[in-house]
Amino acid sequence: MAEAKTAQYQRPLPRRRGPAGEFYEFCHKHELRFQRCGDCGTWRHIPRDMCAKCGSFKWRWDKSSGRGKVFSWTTVMQPMLPQFAEVPYSPVIIEMEEGVRMLSWLRDVKPEELKLDLPVEVAFEDVTPEVTLPMFRRRS
Ligand SMILES: [Zn+2]
Repeated sequence: MAEAKTAQYQRPLPRRRGPAGEFYEFCHKHELRFQRCGDCGTWRHIPRDMCAKCGSFKWRWDKSSGRGKVFSWTTVMQPMLPQFAEVPYSPVIIEMEEGVRMLSWLRDVKPEELKLDLPVEVAFEDVTPEVTLPMFRRRS
């Protein structure tokens, strides 16, 4: 059963080492967490060792509200890789309530329905037995 799901998912998977690996471990538990500086409190994403604001190496994983809004997107009409042959599709940049931005997908919104500031929420998708990706869906 689990092997069948692995065979179905052909798209590239994220590297799961270092701070990014910790991010995806939380996703696997269906928790969206971002790093937050232990000195100045600034949220950050993508995961990294040092705070870009104050230079601190202290940080913790704080839970996100899971809510955000569409900040930007692009619509792909011509796939560059065979794993992304179903076009059109629109990778979106989500601005989270915590202020960080992340690249993801909106599962229930067609490219022509996208608009700036569209309210969205995280919707975890277990793409393999080991990997869960933070996708998004429209929030009412
Ligand atoms: Zn800081």
